[in-house]
Amino acid sequence: MPLTVKPRRSRNIRIILTVICGLLPILLGLAILHMQAQRALQQSSRQTAAEALKQFELMLDSTAAAARELLPLSGRRCSEVQLALREQVTRRPFVRSTNLVWDNNLYCSSLFGDYREAVNPGDYAGGQLWLMNGNPVTPDTALLVYRLSEGRLGALTTLDGYHLSNMLRLIGRETLLALRVGDHWLSADGKVHAGEPPHLPVAPTRLTSQRYRFVVESGYPTGETWRYMADEYPPLFSLLVFFGAIASALGHFLQKRASSPSVEMQRALEAGEFIPYFQPVIHGASKSWAGAEVLMRWNHPKEGLVRPDLFIPFAEHSGLIVPMTRSLMQQTAALLAPLSASFTQPFHIGINITASHCHDLALVADCREFLDAFKPGSVSLVLELTERELIEPTQVTRQLFEQLHGLGVMIAIDDFGTGHSSLGYLRQFNVDFLKIDQSFVAMIGIDTLSGHLLDSIIELAAKLDLRTVAEGVETTGQSDYLTAHGVNFLQGYLFARPMPALEFMNALAAIK
Ligand code: C2E
Ligand code: CA
Ligand code: CA
Repeated sequence: MPLTVKPRRSRNIRIILTVICGLLPILLGLAILHMQAQRALQQSSRQTAAEALKQFELMLDSTAAAARELLPLSGRRCSEVQLALREQVTRRPFVRSTNLVWDNNLYCSSLFGDYREAVNPGDYAGGQLWLMNGNPVTPDTALLVYRLSEGRLGALTTLDGYHLSNMLRLIGRETLLALRVGDHWLSADGKVHAGEPPHLPVAPTRLTSQRYRFVVESGYPTGETWRYMADEYPPLFSLLVFFGAIASALGHFLQKRASSPSVEMQRALEAGEFIPYFQPVIHGASKSWAGAEVLMRWNHPKEGLVRPDLFIPFAEHSGLIVPMTRSLMQQTAALLAPLSASFTQPFHIGINITASHCHDLALVADCREFLDAFKPGSVSLVLELTERELIEPTQVTRQLFEQLHGLGVMIAIDDFGTGHSSLGYLRQFNVDFLKIDQSFVAMIGIDTLSGHLLDSIIELAAKLDLRTVAEGVETTGQSDYLTAHGVNFLQGYLFARPMPALEFMNALAAIK
């Protein structure tokens, strides 16, 4: 059944698609937030490194200025210049000690006065800066030595590593920062390490000073991007979950809609899958073919031929029954109109209509188009409206039935006896035919009460001058009874079952 039972597999696929719909905006949003977090960290890492570089340059400016001022004193006796050396230490911020060098030999120090120590320019990055892990005065305390030399003259000024590591700590509170001089580097804990600083996987930045021989490196450890996102974006996460829920609900709704009966039937209508079957209608007296009732079948590509009671209710509910009936009438006209010249008397063609057809006057145009396809007077079009869903008499319905009668179209009350139509009702709509429901026919000779009911229906029809069709005639007993009681037309398996167009046309050609 194409409209009721859905295969299990497609249900699972629908669930998977719904989940994907929900996850897609969440994953996409996370990817965008991840990129955004990386950019923010990159920017912060750059800013931190730039700030540290600026501060270190300012500190070194002070040490370099002290060295510049002392350089001309190089070569003079230590006792003469020692005061000048101490004055620089006192006056200049960050300067821890000052020293004079002659011919690469340190000979005078602000701390010790006369002193002897060889200076190896190779220890200094670019001959200028040396990052030491302490000296004999303060072992294990980082020290940055600035060297200035001109010919045999030389001055060394030192910067306490405490200021440097303090700066690394203060500026790089969120970042990992390192000061690199030559093949040594200083970490924020004040330790000097040999070799390369460890690689920082997130937002690694390296800034080289243009004025002094040092480099600042900054970055973040693994997982920092997710940590940053968790700290900064919780409201956006909630928003993503919200969008995810909306997207999955939308996905679910669209899938449901796409697999809904009306969408499936709309597709089938466009694909021409609703086709007419024909069941002959027989003259009660002569038993010759008087015409046929057109019965709809759904030629479903997967399910095969589908019975009308499985899809007509959906078609009525969605209003698609109107275009479906139109298509059925057009197909019937195209099939039978070429034969209409050979019809010796008006060929009875029964078309089933529903209450949805009675909401406007569109049916009039459909019937006119149908009749125009045939030789005038060669067919008698009978619209069958089931008694089970009787329509309300309104201005529109009265107009509709009047105009239909004007075209020569006849109205039959289908399944008569199963509903509650009153005499007034039958008169109001100017009904032409009563189609006696199969349940009464089936009871002929079996149930006396049903027999009485059948007789009174036939009598009523005769009194109102309505013609009768008996449906569901399956036995000769039934057929004989109905004929004997003056029923005009018979229809049922006894004569023929509903058949496809080609079979019906062949049978029709054979009896002509
Ligand atoms: P219905 O209009 O009362 O049509 C008669 C039904 O009785 C048909 O079933 C027909 O095949 C079946 N029938 C005919 N002779 C016998 C018989 O001797 N014994 C038995 N047991 N059944 C017999 P079908 O074709 O399955 O149609 C069922 C119903 O679907 C129709 O009942 C009608 O209400 C609806 N239908 C069919 N085609 C259309 C259509 O084009 N439009 C609308 N609105 N409804 C349709
Ligand atoms: Ca019918
Ligand atoms: Ca019927």
